[in-house]
Amino acid sequence: MLKRRSTTLLLTMLLMFTLVVTTGAAAPPLSGVKVVVDAGHGGWDPGAVGVNGLTEKEINLQVAKALRNCLVEYGGAIVEMTRIEDRYVSLASRVKKANLSGADRFISIHHNGSVNPNHNGTAVYSAKNGSWQSHDLRNKVQKRLRQMTGLRDLGANTANFYVLRNTTMPAILTEASFITNPKEEQRLRDPGYLWREAFYIYKGLVDHMGN
Ligand SMILES: [Zn+2]
Repeated sequence: MLKRRSTTLLLTMLLMFTLVVTTGAAAPPLSGVKVVVDAGHGGWDPGAVGVNGLTEKEINLQVAKALRNCLVEYGGAIVEMTRIEDRYVSLASRVKKANLSGADRFISIHHNGSVNPNHNGTAVYSAKNGSWQSHDLRNKVQKRLRQMTGLRDLGANTANFYVLRNTTMPAILTEASFITNPKEEQRLRDPGYLWREAFYIYKGLVDHMGN
């Protein structure tokens, strides 16, 4: 009786050990992938501003930092940020940093603005002359972001944005929602909501890299 119990215990321990070793051995989904994360605006340039004063530059930075953490912690990716504080960085120096970094992907985080306070929706952009990888990444991130925001589909589009046009690696720009919509501005004040936005951008990138 005692012997059988200890055999069972031994087998259980062996199984747990195997599980730990197997799980530990699996490479994270973005292992070795280098990503530049670009928080739009900053410093004297607030970007779009909500009716109750929330600025695009601050939420872009929060989402960018959360995205960096997801990419590193869950994905095993290598991340470079174009800014990590509230300061102005020119579009040219953002692009220069990205192109010099030898990164595999570039993700620029923005939020939309409109004179119509009722307007809201989710959109992601890639460059008009972008590679198929940039369009694929855009489509997959758009799909994930829409799952998360539950907002109107404003499409996976092409645009002539400077940071998309001039970066040498596949690049996208996200506009998850409109900060000028008061209801949305309220949601964007919640750090948990911003974290989820980052996590779903991360998931889109994982979908794109085929893991
Ligand atoms: Zn912006």
